[in-house]
Amino acid sequence: MEHKCLNCGAESNQIVLISCEHKGEALYVCVKCLPVLIHGSH
Ligand SMILES: [Zn+2]
Repeated sequence: MEHKCLNCGAESNQIVLISCEHKGEALYVCVKCLPVLIHGSH
């Protein structure tokens, strides 16, 4: 199964994805979107 960034949909063959967990669910976020999530802008 191909993992995708939860924010922009980028795949791990395009950019580095970081695995994380939210409410017991495994999620992936790319390094480009990680700062966005940290700052909580949405
Ligand atoms: Zn992303």
